[in-house]
Amino acid sequence: MPSKLVCMDCGREYPINAVIYTCAHCASLLDVQHDFPQTVSRELFDQRLGALDLPYSSGVWRYKELIYPDLDEGLIVSRNEGNTNLYHIPKLAAWAGVDTLYLKHEGENPTGSFKDRGMTTGVTQARVLGMDRVACASTGNTSASLAAYAAHAGMEGIVFFQNKQIALGKLAQAIAYGATCVQINADFDKNLELVREVSEALAIYVLNSVNAFRLEGQKSIMFEAIQQLRWQVPDWIVVPGGNLGNSSAFGKGLHEMHALGLIDRLPRIAIIQAEGANPLYKAYQTGFEVYEPVKADTIATAVKIGNPVSYAKAVRTIKWTNGVVEQVSDQEIMDAKALIDATGIGCEPASACSLAGTRKLVEMGVIQPGESVVGILTGHVLKDPDAIIKYHSATLDNLDATYANPMHPAEPSIEEITRILTGAREKAPVV
Ligand SMILES: *Cc1c(COP(=O)(O)O)cnc(C)c1O
Ligand SMILES: [Zn+2]
Repeated sequence: MPSKLVCMDCGREYPINAVIYTCAHCASLLDVQHDFPQTVSRELFDQRLGALDLPYSSGVWRYKELIYPDLDEGLIVSRNEGNTNLYHIPKLAAWAGVDTLYLKHEGENPTGSFKDRGMTTGVTQARVLGMDRVACASTGNTSASLAAYAAHAGMEGIVFFQNKQIALGKLAQAIAYGATCVQINADFDKNLELVREVSEALAIYVLNSVNAFRLEGQKSIMFEAIQQLRWQVPDWIVVPGGNLGNSSAFGKGLHEMHALGLIDRLPRIAIIQAEGANPLYKAYQTGFEVYEPVKADTIATAVKIGNPVSYAKAVRTIKWTNGVVEQVSDQEIMDAKALIDATGIGCEPASACSLAGTRKLVEMGVIQPGESVVGILTGHVLKDPDAIIKYHSATLDNLDATYANPMHPAEPSIEEITRILTGAREKAPVV
């Protein structure tokens, strides 16, 4: 049977080549549903490790049978995304309070965030549909990724930015990759409404994570992490939550792996939100009885979202995996980030929710010290240089530079430099 789009609530079905984002009947989110081939196995995917050519050299398309089985390979738009490292850093594990902590660094994707995994499938679907213009509203990384993949595919990329609080690295990427950048005096949530309306009128394909094909690519983070663990399932996956596309994709991917017998149990998913952008956390506190959007404010701009589009799918993820939702403060985020950065690995602020959240859940007794944890680092350290410089120079409003690595200004004098390098001085943070 060919793949199709299925409403997650009323079950209505739509053909895979319909340009539709939400159910025409009940307005709920759609899932891409595949008829997985019988040939799917751990061995099949292991054989493809080390492939030199696309599609199997990509960390998304290696799992093509799970991503988009009957897709014509010639339509794939890929930049060899995925294949990101899974780091084992005992010092950070000790700081978080667990024996085994891996950090999977999605900032190592071609444009520096996990968004590339969803963009390869999203732009590929644009090609399937014969659309030549793609658009998104973004807090930054989706635009950077869309701009790159649209350019790579020879399409026009269109991005709707808010006119303030965009991390510099992300804005620079979208401009550099040649996207049409529309700067709007509105926040992300408003821009998402606008992009959906304008795109409908102008026949532009929307590649925000409301687009179910994005999530199909992002599922591969779970496939790849578990394959890297030799198919051993960790006890916990800890992931930052903003618009909740990623956590939704994780739940779907794990559910599918389990149904196919690729794994014998499900890890528990912990979604970590910033305190200033915590609508899922608040709903979780009510047992998901009450959901209210919030006015979002956090230094972690990638998760600064008050009304997450994939809310319902994230709730499903939590239910499927016996998961939890926690929140962390901007101070906790920036301190955890400083420690990740100081290991030489580095990440952008939102990513540090994973480490800060793990530590908090251990303190609360939710994660046991003997349990294994995979934390997802969602974006690259260079995405938000501003936050780094301000943290280390102790100039962030209302935040302490707990683990500051301050600069040492010096005259071009051997004596003065020697004094700095031999005297008592503030050193980079050590965990
Ligand atoms: C998009 C993004 C997030 C949030 O992911 P959602 O799928 O929107 O929940 C977190 N961190 C980074 C770096 C991102 O780019
Ligand atoms: Zn429906």
